[in-house]
Amino acid sequence: MESVESRIKVLPESVASQIAAGEIVERPASVVKELLDNSVDAGSTVISIDVVNGGRTLIRVIDDGEGMSRADAPLACQRFATSKIRHPRDLSGIATYGFRGEALPSIAAVSRFRMLTARHQSLTGTAVVIEGGDVRSVEERGAAPGTRIEVEELFFNTPGRRKFLKTTATEFSHITHVVQQAALANLHTQVRLTHNDHVVFDYPKVTTLEDRLLQVFGPRVMEMMMPIHHEQADVHVRGMIVNPYHSKTGRTPQEIFVNRRFVKNTTIAHAVYESYGSFLPKGRHPTFALMVEVDPHDVDVNVHPSKREVKFRSPDLIHRAIKTAVRGPLQKHVMGSPTFSPGLEERAPDVVDKEKPAQVRMGEPLIERSFPSGASDVQTSSGRGQRGEAGQVKESPVLYPLEPEVRILGQIHATYIVAHVGDELHVLDQHTIHERVLFEGLWREWKDRHIQTQPLLIPEPVDVPVAAATQLAEILPELANVGLELECFGPSSFVIRSVPALVGQMDYVALLEDILEDLSEWNSVDSLDKRIRSVLASVACKGAVQAGRRMEAPEMKHVVNDWLREGSPMTCPHGRRISLRFGSEELHRIFRRL
Ligand code: ADP
Ligand code: MG
Repeated sequence: MESVESRIKVLPESVASQIAAGEIVERPASVVKELLDNSVDAGSTVISIDVVNGGRTLIRVIDDGEGMSRADAPLACQRFATSKIRHPRDLSGIATYGFRGEALPSIAAVSRFRMLTARHQSLTGTAVVIEGGDVRSVEERGAAPGTRIEVEELFFNTPGRRKFLKTTATEFSHITHVVQQAALANLHTQVRLTHNDHVVFDYPKVTTLEDRLLQVFGPRVMEMMMPIHHEQADVHVRGMIVNPYHSKTGRTPQEIFVNRRFVKNTTIAHAVYESYGSFLPKGRHPTFALMVEVDPHDVDVNVHPSKREVKFRSPDLIHRAIKTAVRGPLQKHVMGSPTFSPGLEERAPDVVDKEKPAQVRMGEPLIERSFPSGASDVQTSSGRGQRGEAGQVKESPVLYPLEPEVRILGQIHATYIVAHVGDELHVLDQHTIHERVLFEGLWREWKDRHIQTQPLLIPEPVDVPVAAATQLAEILPELANVGLELECFGPSSFVIRSVPALVGQMDYVALLEDILEDLSEWNSVDSLDKRIRSVLASVACKGAVQAGRRMEAPEMKHVVNDWLREGSPMTCPHGRRISLRFGSEELHRIFRRL
């Protein structure tokens, strides 16, 4: 009879041992991914995902797929039990997301797991309850066709792992990303996501990739993209790539799908970057979404425990195909467009922003630091130093230490200030020096609890990706604390009302992108100071003079003086160098005068 028919088999040891092993459930988003994979493999046309507290409290996935029989339901929760492969040879040419039979048992081992499932033809369904890997009950129960899985209190029995979870907003943003990837890869499925009972999105099924991309990325991003489509005998490539004018300092979104599987793949990513070549200013990154289809036998999906990587049989062929696919439209659109300036590659890069090697620690604020002792050795120059009068020295300490005299010699490459400071020759990076000065000022104001704000005459609207909107909404009060006042307008739209007075005009969209990028790295245990520091560093970076801008001498002198007053710190808050300095001795040594 149908309801007891069994399709799931436990894989023999010979097959199980060939499967890439490793941790499957790292965080709530991995649970969502595995459940979505299963729902898609089951041929679902509607999938609903409900999440509570970033997935810590509850993850629920409901689908209308083929469901499981009474015999299969408990079997599905055993290790290496799968309906998708049988033999070692099946490991090549896999057309389903799943094939290892490990997801459900791995999830059930670290949560309170409930499953209710029914095949379409059967009148009743099966309910399975497992807690921390122990099967509590398997019962017959009335159920709609399809499968509904609830994962409660993830990691309740592994407190070590629970501790490593990031903030609710961060965990939820990973979940959003995973769900959006599933939506991008499966056009004919309706996908809806709620968080704490609020609908985050509900994408009806579509027939074209463009329509899906529009749902996921929104019209603002899509306006900056151009479609690509390339077919050759063994490889099909479709998707959207960003117009190079709209490249960004961040790497997201960059979505790569191989046979509808979201993957990280250096061959493909490299080919994209190489295609952009000099269209892409230094330090900038393209947004793209690429769907690559190859014969399943030409790609090995069994190389990573959570199947996030694939290996191509002939990577060179893929590399070439991607380049052909991307290069063509890029040249046509960019070169063909009247606004294209062939000088693009020579343009001074707006680099600076945020080269932030992970190892570089953000510079400590220098508020409590005293001035360098050397400074007072320098000759007094008119009026600047206000020493205590002779004879009063005991009572009045030195209020303002003397600063070395600054003579601006010029600006080179519209990026560096060359100056004589005291008896040293300095080459200063105009962006990092200004960034540091702004940062110190902002930090001081923050410590004194009075960041001066300046309302914008015309409030500035900004849209952020849905995945980030919740995160942003959550930190609005913190941002307001530092003078960045935003108001939420709809699910992913915000309006900037005021900014810290110290910085004034800047690229607000880039600023928010920066802040959001940092935000995803915040830990729930990070101190407020640490968070604020990273926000202020972003504000300072975006508010500072960029490389490539001509500066007049008084302006340069001003910023150098400000920097000296801050104690001439040697790096910007992101850890980049500010100054290259040569003392007279060093110069003599270089020229062998000593
Ligand atoms: P895998 O997907 O690698 O086979 P899983 O542990 O994820 O391993 O799932 C085990 C089996 O349970 C699947 O092979 C499938 O037969 C069944 N299954 C899991 N989820 C669903 C679902 N949503 N609908 C129908 N069958 C499912
Ligand atoms: Mg699976």
